[in-house]
Amino acid sequence: VEPIFTATELAEVKTYHAPKYAYSMLNTILGPLVLLLMLRFVVRPLWSLSNRLGSAFETGAAARVGLQRLAAAAETLWRGPGWASALVFSLLFFELYGLVDVPVEIWFGYVHEHAHGLARMAFGTFLLDMLKGHLVFVVALGALVFGLFGLARRTPHWWWLLGVAAAMLMVVSTALDPFRNRLYVEQTSLEPGELRKRIVALLNKAGVEFRDVVIEHTASRTVRVQAYFAGTGVTRTIVLNDSLIATFSTDEILASVAHEAGHVNESRVLSRLGSSCVLLVFLWAIERLFRWSATHRWFGIQNRADVRTLPLIVLFFATGLLVGNPVSGAFSRQRELAADQYGIRLTGDAPAFRSMLRKAARVNKMDPDPPRWVVIKGISHPPIAQRIALAQ
Ligand SMILES: [Zn+2]
Repeated sequence: VEPIFTATELAEVKTYHAPKYAYSMLNTILGPLVLLLMLRFVVRPLWSLSNRLGSAFETGAAARVGLQRLAAAAETLWRGPGWASALVFSLLFFELYGLVDVPVEIWFGYVHEHAHGLARMAFGTFLLDMLKGHLVFVVALGALVFGLFGLARRTPHWWWLLGVAAAMLMVVSTALDPFRNRLYVEQTSLEPGELRKRIVALLNKAGVEFRDVVIEHTASRTVRVQAYFAGTGVTRTIVLNDSLIATFSTDEILASVAHEAGHVNESRVLSRLGSSCVLLVFLWAIERLFRWSATHRWFGIQNRADVRTLPLIVLFFATGLLVGNPVSGAFSRQRELAADQYGIRLTGDAPAFRSMLRKAARVNKMDPDPPRWVVIKGISHPPIAQRIALAQ
């Protein structure tokens, strides 16, 4: 197999990835450590501050800003006072926990990407994206905390009720995927012509139902090429970015679409069943945490479903990910190789498939052979050199 990079290029690619690997290793150790320190030193003072702010809002400030009806409704749903304190506590906790990550995020997401010629976006755009992402997170966190703790305060059966609801919500969320990226980048329908005709023919051959083929305009932000399918059934959208259209030949574009079509046709029954079971066990374990924390009066907790258990839940979740990621990563890499094989069979054009992978690796500066531990820790795609060798 012809090497993807020259020696000089490979050295540059390795220089790009080295700090990412180092930080990933560091974060595995520091993440839980920071959480433990916060459990020990931050939870109690943060709660007393949140409780003061939240109570003040519930008992007076809400009425002053014209939100008394909303506050009354929230109190009914929550079955008593304390909902605002819970929201303030969870928000402040995550702001503090995420504070360390802000400079890291800016360095990796902006400085490092620019230094290696991968990013094109202006700093203002980068900050605006960060802010948008953060706002989405805050809204989701508020809904989750209010929903989870509010339901748990009402019934000890909350964990399986929420588990079933979450499984259904995941289906809805997948259907909405095509619209999520529009918060950040512009998408336009791929105009009629030779390329569109051939993509549609390929998808028909694969029996893939879809709504549209769109171009995502990312060239002003990044040099990276990208193709993905978003949504499911009638909402499924074939997304190709403008850099991919500009860099790849028609046959290479078809190869990447054929790979994605392989994901549509893979059986998801086992993975859906598996993730639903894991979710149920996780939620059940949270209910145990609720009871233990009340029995043992952790952080001054007296009743189950107290929001002060949230940092413990986060620690529990982070530990679970550390154990779960290698497993889900291994399954994911298996699916990627299967999608490669499917794609080659669909187009019957292995050379175009290999040159597509090579170009993607070169433009996106993929590490052809990442360290073994990085793979085991749970990367979603097999090393690109392996994929090219198998396509050979
Ligand atoms: Zn894939």
